Amino acid sequence: MIRKLISRVLGRKSAGEPAEIPHSKHGIRRDAISSGSWRTVETLQEKGYKAFVVGGAVRDLLAGIKPKDFDVATNATPEQVRQCFRRSRIIGRRFQIVHVMMGQETIEVTTFRGHHGQQDSHRAQTDEQGRVLRDNVFGSQKEDAARRDFTVNALYYDPVAETVVDYHHGLADLKQKTLRMIGDPATRYREDPVRMLRAVRLAAKLDFSIETGTRQPIGELAELIENVPPSRLFDEMLKLLTSGHAVKCLQRLRAEGLHRGVLPLLDVILEQPLGERFVTLALENTDRRVHEGKPISPGFLFATLLWHEVLGRWEGLKAGGARPIPALFQAMDDVLDVQAEKLAITRRVAGDIKDIWALQPRFEQRSGKRPYGLLEQPRFKAGLDFLLMRVQSGEVPDELGQWWGAFLAADGEGRAAMLLPQKPDEKKKRRRRKRKPAATHDDAHDEAPE
Ligand code: ATP
Ligand code: MG
Repeated sequence: MIRKLISRVLGRKSAGEPAEIPHSKHGIRRDAISSGSWRTVETLQEKGYKAFVVGGAVRDLLAGIKPKDFDVATNATPEQVRQCFRRSRIIGRRFQIVHVMMGQETIEVTTFRGHHGQQDSHRAQTDEQGRVLRDNVFGSQKEDAARRDFTVNALYYDPVAETVVDYHHGLADLKQKTLRMIGDPATRYREDPVRMLRAVRLAAKLDFSIETGTRQPIGELAELIENVPPSRLFDEMLKLLTSGHAVKCLQRLRAEGLHRGVLPLLDVILEQPLGERFVTLALENTDRRVHEGKPISPGFLFATLLWHEVLGRWEGLKAGGARPIPALFQAMDDVLDVQAEKLAITRRVAGDIKDIWALQPRFEQRSGKRPYGLLEQPRFKAGLDFLLMRVQSGEVPDELGQWWGAFLAADGEGRAAMLLPQKPDEKKKRRRRKRKPAATHDDAHDEAPE
């Protein structure tokens, strides 16, 4: 009710018609959008098409957040868009979009997309759970607005006319800091379960509450996340974890019961006190880096999320009589295999994760040449940061972290003086290996992981 009232005040004409909100009421400054998106909209309009800045950028501008990128929506077809810009190309298979290159910027231009579900001829192809498999129909601007997820994501900003076009009371929701699904929330989650994750991520990012009707079906439908293709889940998870609000997002995911579908072992991890402390530290660290504009390594991040799984599995294997280092490698593979089914962790990221894990036992070896060898490892810095987080979480003694800090800071003589004496059995093993270079596979691993 209140939002309808706000909408009326803001300039809605009549039911079904979008409100055209003037600058005096929305307050977006023309120069707040990038020059590339401005020029793209202007050019399309000069050629007689409709064109707007849409989606997250308009939402963020209205919420006082600096947008990450500026997307444009238009009634021109991809081919027509391409003809308007010399430096542009059509991309995408499922739904074609055009990348328009403007100086350093690349603007994503999307043709209004059709509404599905009302007429059989327009009905999108879905799976048994109602997940949309294909929907590649062009449509009107009204249809385009209806197929977006949340009301605050369905706002169109025309920088030439300086108006905001609002079909779903989005501006009113924005002013009330509310995330509200367009249409029937349960149906929309069934069409695309990723929308549940988006709800959580956007609510955390914007500090909005999720409207009751939008929130209510999530718990019940959470398991549908399992039907989402792993590569899409990985992208979405990465977006969530690197949003700068990862701690808040994970707390909300947990509150909504969504963490199980995404990282099947996350609930187990979070229920072990040390695991929870470690994951929280890692995410706080990531959030801090995002706010400082520093890069985030997905490998490091996933290595932290899964570490306590590895530890648990490793302990189990060792208790069963396996040698420590082969057992660690086995535990690493087991944990990554389980995750790979749900979350397509790319091969490169999986490699990074394993590198960081495999370095951990080597930090305990502080005699002879070994610490020097570790310093030379390309992933030494990441491995040390990881170790320091383990120290901070109480998993390994402070003394180990302090030793490495001091070792790094010391000069040549200082370092030599810090080395711990070799254990007698260590000396023996080394001599034996020198005489017998063709060690078995297991023996080689027993030394230390490469
Ligand atoms: P951000 O870029 O801050 O992560 P965003 O809302 O801009 O958030 P994008 O993935 O860039 O997210 O999507 C751009 C727009 O496309 C959204 O604002 C929304 O209107 C629409 N959209 C994106 N994903 C979906 C979806 N799963 N279902 C419906 N509409 C979507
Ligand atoms: Mg966006």
